[in-house]
Amino acid sequence: MTGVAEATAQSVAEAARLLRDGQLVAFPTETVYGLGGDATNESAVAAIFEAKGRPEFNPLISHVLDSDEAKRFVQWNETADKLAARFWPGPLTLVLPRSAGSPISLLATAGLDTVAIRAPSHPVAQALIRAAGLPIAAPSANRSGAISPTRAEHVAESLGERVPLILDGGPCLVGVESTVLDLTGATPTLLRPGGATREAIEAVIGPIAVSDALPSGDSARKSPGQLESHYAPARPVRLGATSVGADEGLLAFGANVPQGAMLTYNLSPSGDLAEAAANLFAQMRLLDRPGIGRIAVMPIPETGLGLAINDRLRRAAAGDGKDRGR
Ligand code: AMP
Ligand code: MG
Repeated sequence: MTGVAEATAQSVAEAARLLRDGQLVAFPTETVYGLGGDATNESAVAAIFEAKGRPEFNPLISHVLDSDEAKRFVQWNETADKLAARFWPGPLTLVLPRSAGSPISLLATAGLDTVAIRAPSHPVAQALIRAAGLPIAAPSANRSGAISPTRAEHVAESLGERVPLILDGGPCLVGVESTVLDLTGATPTLLRPGGATREAIEAVIGPIAVSDALPSGDSARKSPGQLESHYAPARPVRLGATSVGADEGLLAFGANVPQGAMLTYNLSPSGDLAEAAANLFAQMRLLDRPGIGRIAVMPIPETGLGLAINDRLRRAAAGDGKDRGR
């Protein structure tokens, strides 16, 4: 059952224990309440998507204490340094390339080679990150389609019993989401407007670009046409496979796996959708390699996390292979 607990040293310690154990915790940040899980644990991140009931995987922000910690997970640069000095801790998320060997979950970045990272200023968020000793992946703590929660009661209403512990740190002060700024290209690009204004950012690093695909609000994402926005394998993808060819790599699901593929990975031999979500991006990458002509994917049920898994697989199948980056 769900517990809403006033944030104290004791409840924060309990929340940290849950996070280290792979469970979820809702916690306040200065922007909105986040639904947090261990950003390095694929299963914990799958549980976030499951609890939100979102029919697609969007990349999540990893929350850290400061830029020193961020450097363990991303390739840091001078622009990031200037921005972090001015805005961190605070409502500015930076998108940077994954560092070599970055332990951030592939599901947390929706398979991308970039990581969105931010250091929140809310003392409860900071205490939780410190106590857990982990980067925390956290989207807003609401069911998909519901508005972002700025009080612990909103989280309890929206997520009900889906989250074991909600830390109550009072109302959020900023109340809008963090600004998301992409630093992976030649010109820093605003992907989502938010708590840190464009003017304030430009005062620090000069002119920035604004993404064409910029819608406002929760679902702001780069458009599907932009190659950075979706991981897609370079090889063609065939869905609904019940038999397999010798030139194919098979992404299997469940117990009845057709034989004869060049290489097979099973998303979940027991047919568990959360396990399948946790394995999805890693296994797609393992199959997307020279010698394999095509990736065949067994049918995945269209229920629960299966909706997001199938959404991602359909996008992968719709791509023509070329120009689709890792
Ligand atoms: P939320 O978790 O609801 O605050 O939303 C996270 C925002 O960050 C969404 O707009 C994502 O599309 C964006 N985002 C997260 N990771 C990345 C990434 N690696 N590249 C581009 N945008 C990202
Ligand atoms: Mg949201």
